[in-house]
Amino acid sequence: MNLEVPKHIANYIGGSLQAPLNGKYIDNVNPATGEVYSYIPDSDAKDVEDAVKAAKAAFPAWSITTAEERFAVLNRIAELIDKNLDALALAETNDNGKPLWLSKKVDIPRASSNFRFFATGLMHFATESHNMEEKTINYTLRQPIGVVGCISPWNLPLYLFTWKIAPALAAGNCVVSKPSEITPMTGYLLSLICMEAGLPAGVLNIVHGNGPNCGAAIVAHPEIKAISFTGSTRAGKEIASTTAPMFKKVSLELGGKNPNIIFADCDWEKMMRTTLQSSFANQGQICLCGSRILVEESIYEKFKAEFIERAKKLTVGDPLDEHSRQGAVVSKMHFDKVMGCIELAKQEGGKILLGGNAIKGTGRCENGYFIQPTIIEGLGADCRTNMEEIFGPVVTLQSFKTEDEALQLANASDYGLAATIWTQDVSRANRVAAKVYSGIIWVNCWLLRDLRTPFGGFKNSGVGREGGWDALRFFTDVKNVCIDL
Ligand code: NAD
Repeated sequence: MNLEVPKHIANYIGGSLQAPLNGKYIDNVNPATGEVYSYIPDSDAKDVEDAVKAAKAAFPAWSITTAEERFAVLNRIAELIDKNLDALALAETNDNGKPLWLSKKVDIPRASSNFRFFATGLMHFATESHNMEEKTINYTLRQPIGVVGCISPWNLPLYLFTWKIAPALAAGNCVVSKPSEITPMTGYLLSLICMEAGLPAGVLNIVHGNGPNCGAAIVAHPEIKAISFTGSTRAGKEIASTTAPMFKKVSLELGGKNPNIIFADCDWEKMMRTTLQSSFANQGQICLCGSRILVEESIYEKFKAEFIERAKKLTVGDPLDEHSRQGAVVSKMHFDKVMGCIELAKQEGGKILLGGNAIKGTGRCENGYFIQPTIIEGLGADCRTNMEEIFGPVVTLQSFKTEDEALQLANASDYGLAATIWTQDVSRANRVAAKVYSGIIWVNCWLLRDLRTPFGGFKNSGVGREGGWDALRFFTDVKNVCIDL
């Protein structure tokens, strides 16, 4: 098959490609060049209504397909994603600004892994039974919910979109989904792949549009019984307030302001290499990035000097150039936001140790949105810079004297998504892991993801867990059946 990037992206509803009913489109910009290179449907409640109708019509047949049949079609989608790796990676990079080597190495392979993982997972999914001596036997029935909504953000576009869609389909649901309007292209290309793979019409519907018109219509639709959302805490709050009185099932994967806690006894080289990644990978636009670096006082100056030297060497530039370690941030709006956060840090008394400025691209990237890796020190735990998510190539440094102080700083944030701990002391690693209030803890590593593990955050980082059986449980309704023996 030939995955061509169109000028006008189409919705995928009822198994076919459709223009938005209102005929309106939004500009799609390549952030590395600043150019509008395609147009995104500005869909609204009417398109969502059509998608829901198609999903409802497809549900009775899809929900009773055998596990083998569902496995076969989801696995075919995984294979087609792998076969089209180059085209998908290029589309992702042109939409998002991330280096092409990163899209090829991480984003697209993970999208096929998501489908493969849940395709095989559904073949092994089982439910419990509870025996009450000789009186009764109870068994748990897990049934598909019906029509569910999946909404995803722009930072890992196809990676996160498929992370939701794959388990929803595997569990036997029909889906109305929306990728981010800032990075819609790989979501569109996935529609072509699903058609080629033979996914029955209406089982997956992909509606493109912005949050307030299209996303909100999915969330509020009475026939959509569950919402799986990844995105900002702001949008998560709106979704929670719409869905709570409707008693919908929700999974909300929201923002992070993650501590990276570095003790003096760490494996220095590994910690330095990984900290560079956890600070700036994907231009710092990963919800799991360690944006608050907490360093034990005795190694603070040494860490600072070496970290600055290493970060200086991160080449920022054209995402298509294989030498670029950093590409463009995702949009002009996000560029302005991140630059505003750096300005705020200065006003709060922060000292910019490295970066702090935009970078002018060269050649085709003259008008792209590039920001230098930025390191800031001298700010307390409770200032806005250390409390609010920046979601860009910006980190702060703070020092601590004791384990208790490290924990206090780590837990000072209103977010609780992830944390990284660097120490060679096993007892301390376990102690700190138990006391840091975050859903995901990495000890002496970062971003190693086993898809079977529960993924999600505490506090303002959201509610619910994705991954493994958690995802298949989220996407099923549970019933207890009690039989008198
Ligand atoms: P966003 O909340 O602006 O948008 C995310 C998605 O929700 C988009 O598709 C958008 O169109 C839609 N949307 C926006 N408002 C909506 C509404 N009221 N109702 C329904 N849909 C709505 O987030 P973003 O800027 O695209 O993504 C960045 C954010 O995502 C960051 O806060 C980041 O931390 C978070 N994130 C979290 C995780 C995680 O797993 N916890 C992973 C990646 C990104």
